[in-house]
Amino acid sequence: MIRVDGQIVSPGAGGVYNERMVQGYRVWDPYRSKLSALCMLDDSIDLSGTMRVLYLGAANGTTVSHVADYVEVVYAVEFAPRPLRDLLVVAEKRKNIVPIAGDATRPDRYAPYLEEVDLLYQDVAQPDQAGILLKHLPFLTTGGQVILMLKTRSVDIRRTPEEVFAETIERLTEGGLIVQKTFWLEPYHHDHAAIVCEVVK
Ligand code: SAM
Repeated sequence: MIRVDGQIVSPGAGGVYNERMVQGYRVWDPYRSKLSALCMLDDSIDLSGTMRVLYLGAANGTTVSHVADYVEVVYAVEFAPRPLRDLLVVAEKRKNIVPIAGDATRPDRYAPYLEEVDLLYQDVAQPDQAGILLKHLPFLTTGGQVILMLKTRSVDIRRTPEEVFAETIERLTEGGLIVQKTFWLEPYHHDHAAIVCEVVK
């Protein structure tokens, strides 16, 4: 990842959401984007020009736009009409974003639009985040990577973030993933954990 003055940046045309520019790069704010926060906490996270990414929970495309600055193509899945409209505007300008109006609990419905990807990124903030992620493993290439942004309060507000986190790790492991590393995204995002995994194939 490119860093300028200790900030994560991306190399694309600016003006997507009024992001700041520094030395010609788009500043990727870790307080607005969990992926940028993860990169701040782990400098081994990398995106490269040959990567294909499946991004679940694209919202209005702000983080997607930064990812697209680095990789070959991003398949960006979102189901809510309002953010989807903004995502389509972002995708108009970045030709390597494939916006998909789809429900991530039903990947069978958009499978024909996908190809195998190198990175599966999930940020849907739903009760069954682990289950949604596991349904998409068939789209991952051998040796591919998985990043889950777990919003513990969305999974179960009655249990502690630590309990939800532990249960999620167990489910991912049972589902055939090897958890490589985990981070709580403090101080950027409260009660959110990033879980980085690879697939057992
Ligand atoms: N990743 C975004 C970013 O960094 O800019 C923020 C994502 S926001 C926390 C979660 C998004 O997931 C929302 O836009 C929501 O509509 C979407 N979402 C939730 N459940 C979904 C589902 N089942 N299928 C597709 N999108 C979903």
